[in-house]
Amino acid sequence: MDAKAPLSLKFVVIGASISGIACAYALRQAGHDVLVLEATDGSHRGEGGIRVPPNMTRILNDWSLRPLLDKWAVTCPEFIFRSDIASGEPLGILKLHAQMMDALNANFLLMKHGDLHTMLLELAMKAGAEFKYNVPIVEVDPWEVTATSSDGSIYTGDVILGADGLDSMIRNEVVLDDPPTAHFAHKIALEATVSTALMKQDEDLKSLTESAEWWVWMSDGAAANGHLIHGGEEFSLNVTINVEDDSTSFTESWKDKVAFDQVNFRFPFHDPRVFKFFELAGTAVPVKYIIRDSFDDWVHESGKVAVVGEAAHPFMPSCSHNAAMGIEDAAMLGSLFSRISSREQISTLLYAYEELRQPRCAETQKSEHERRDFIALPTGPIQELRDQGLRETLKQAALDWDDADEEFLRATYEAYIIIFAYDAGEMADDWWTKWGNTLERGKESQSESEFTSRARGASALSTVSVSVSSSA
Ligand SMILES: Cc1cc2nc3c(=O)[nH]c(=O)nc-3n(C[C@H](O)[C@H](O)[C@H](O)COP(=O)(O)OP(=O)(O)OC[C@H]3O[C@@H](n4cnc5c(N)ncnc54)[C@H](O)[C@@H]3O)c2cc1C
Repeated sequence: MDAKAPLSLKFVVIGASISGIACAYALRQAGHDVLVLEATDGSHRGEGGIRVPPNMTRILNDWSLRPLLDKWAVTCPEFIFRSDIASGEPLGILKLHAQMMDALNANFLLMKHGDLHTMLLELAMKAGAEFKYNVPIVEVDPWEVTATSSDGSIYTGDVILGADGLDSMIRNEVVLDDPPTAHFAHKIALEATVSTALMKQDEDLKSLTESAEWWVWMSDGAAANGHLIHGGEEFSLNVTINVEDDSTSFTESWKDKVAFDQVNFRFPFHDPRVFKFFELAGTAVPVKYIIRDSFDDWVHESGKVAVVGEAAHPFMPSCSHNAAMGIEDAAMLGSLFSRISSREQISTLLYAYEELRQPRCAETQKSEHERRDFIALPTGPIQELRDQGLRETLKQAALDWDDADEEFLRATYEAYIIIFAYDAGEMADDWWTKWGNTLERGKESQSESEFTSRARGASALSTVSVSVSSSA
């Protein structure tokens, strides 16, 4: 994906976390100037775990990160779902069979948020993206394409991308007329990380360090999941807990830390290892679950400002695809903008990005919600049915790919394969094959204002089809 665009643009990206940095790299590779503005000093690195599904691993491999992934990520062989209500027995296994991963041409990796951040940042800087820290953006003028920081400095570009996270100012105050309705889901995620050297000194915790699986505990209305990170030198554990209190002072930021013995909500896990782990960690990062209503617009009507990453498709904390969706956004924007040859095409390409990415992200969000609900069912008849169903298929699930029943494999893996096989660059190529010629013709036959007003409020595909019929 190193094709350089015939026309080089200036992108201003707001937010230097995973999505912003990934966009900076992909757009730089496509031949554009990129300035990234970050509110913080940039020194904070997430200590927790992050999942890297094959759809994301393939992009990172394409971006030449494989040697660093080999060093810092852990290849996950299976997810094991354990009952935390009864004996802690494994109830379900999702084996990531070699046959399937070979066909997907990438592994499911487990890694540390900070490691991913650092490797992407080095990559983007090496590619020539410019980063400015301690620059909180307080205002964006979408028509003038300017971003103003709290000290009054003004940054101008051809395109502004809001990679400013879950509570995005660019989304709430610029792209949308009103911010999406948000409500506290009465859940808190608590995440902690401990070195495996320390865990090995404890007879119980030692066992967690001996398997590269993704550990999942299904408890009464709650779930815990954990895995090795940082090349196996650390273990990260995350619990999702229901809280009654509306007035929790926790935020969505990932930057707060609390002393574990000060956390005063019910800790509903029976496996003593879960509690012991947090005791050993001493502190944990609390992240509040805010659920936002869906919204349709990712691009401002000027056609020059768009949102990416969690700003565009907010997920619950600690899912499998939070980072993956941001990386896919970046790969798609890089691919679409690697062909731009005139400024009039900017809005159409941003609307194409919106149109191509929205269904994918909505499907992935839905599947993450269903999965989280499934593993955190409250004790009762539905949970018993779930456990019974899992027990019945456990024998099949433990078999090798070649020995398992074909119908079982299809029912178990089909949905995962659809998510894992997605290729953002290929989607962008297909779009371009279908609409690129029309876009090029449109450039010659239309003035900027005509083109932009057509793009405004309409999807890229309908925009282009209007121009086909008018030029016919
Ligand atoms: C410091 C940090 C640590 C994290 N650690 C973990 C972890 O351990 N495990 C995990 O699963 N997830 C973690 N996350 C969440 C994870 O990054 C996201 O879920 C996702 O992977 C990528 O989201 P994003 O880049 O779209 O947004 P985010 O990661 O939320 O980043 C948004 C960025 O925009 C910046 N920003 C916001 N507003 C402005 C503004 N007005 N002007 C300039 N900059 C602005 C923020 O400071 C932040 O750097 C962390 C996020 C952060 C910010």
